[in-house]
Amino acid sequence: MPELPEVEVLARHLRPLIRGKTICDVNVRRAKVLLPTPPRKFRRTLLGAKFTGLSRRGKYLLFQLRAKSGGKPISLLGHLGMTGRIFLAQKGRRLPKHTAVMFDLGAGNLVYEDTRYFGRLTLDTSALTRLGPEPLDDKFTAEIFAQSLKRSRQAIKVKLLDQRLVAGIGNIYASEALFRARLAPGLAANRLIAPQVRQLRLAIRVVLAEAIECGSTVPLNLGGSKSDGLFYFGRAPGAPDFYEERLRVYDREGQPCPNCRHPIKRITQAARSTFFCPHCQRAR
Ligand SMILES: [Zn+2]
Repeated sequence: MPELPEVEVLARHLRPLIRGKTICDVNVRRAKVLLPTPPRKFRRTLLGAKFTGLSRRGKYLLFQLRAKSGGKPISLLGHLGMTGRIFLAQKGRRLPKHTAVMFDLGAGNLVYEDTRYFGRLTLDTSALTRLGPEPLDDKFTAEIFAQSLKRSRQAIKVKLLDQRLVAGIGNIYASEALFRARLAPGLAANRLIAPQVRQLRLAIRVVLAEAIECGSTVPLNLGGSKSDGLFYFGRAPGAPDFYEERLRVYDREGQPCPNCRHPIKRITQAARSTFFCPHCQRAR
C-alpha cells in the first residue's frame, strides 16, 4: 500500500508530464471512486480543464486544474487506497480491466486503475482538513508532536497510523521508524519521554526522506511502448521491488536484525502486522 514516499515520488514524476495538458474527455467506469462527487458533476467540471499542477499532502495527490470556461481553479483529490495506480497510457491501448477513471489528454490517456476500488479520485477535498502536519515540514516540531502524543494511551505503533497526529505514515514506515528510534511498538504514546519523542520525530523524517530518495531512482517508465504504457506506481511484472528490498524490519519476520542479528518478530496490533527487533526495541 502506497505511503507518503511512494505518493511523493509519483507526484514528482507525473507533475511535469501532465502540466499544461487539457482533459478532452472524461470516462468514468467506477462511480464509487468519485464519492461523494456525482459522476455528472465530475464530468461537467473537468471536461476541457487544464492541469496546472500536482502536489502531495499526506498520502493524497492534489491535482490543480483550471476550468475551461472562466478559468476557475479546480482541485482534484486522489488517493491510491490499497491497490490504486495512476499512469499515462498510450492512445489506442486497451485499458486495464479495473480502470476506474480515464482522462483523454489528447496525446495520451491518464488512467486511474484500482482492482479493489478502495481509492478515490474526487472533487471533495474535505479529507485534507483532517490531516495532521507534514512530517518533513518544519511545522512538525518535537513540541507539537509531544503534545499530540500526550493525549493518547494507544500503543505508539497504532498511534503513528493516525493521520491526525502526522500525515502520510502507514504500516510499513511506522515499523521502520520505531526500529530506527529503538522504541518498542507497544509503548503507550503518552509514556514517551522528551528524548524519545525527539528520537522518533527524527527517525520518521529520516526513514521517509530515505525512501523518497530511493524511490527517485526507480525507473518508472518501465514498459515504455510496451503493453502497460508508462508505468507509475505499483510494480510492473518482473521488476524488482526497490522499496521492499531496503526495508530493515518490515515483512522480515524470522530474519536477522541488521543491528544485532536477533530474529525480527511479528506481532498484531489493531489487526495489523507490526515488525520489530525485541532486542533493539526493548519496552521501557
Ligand atoms: Zn536488533
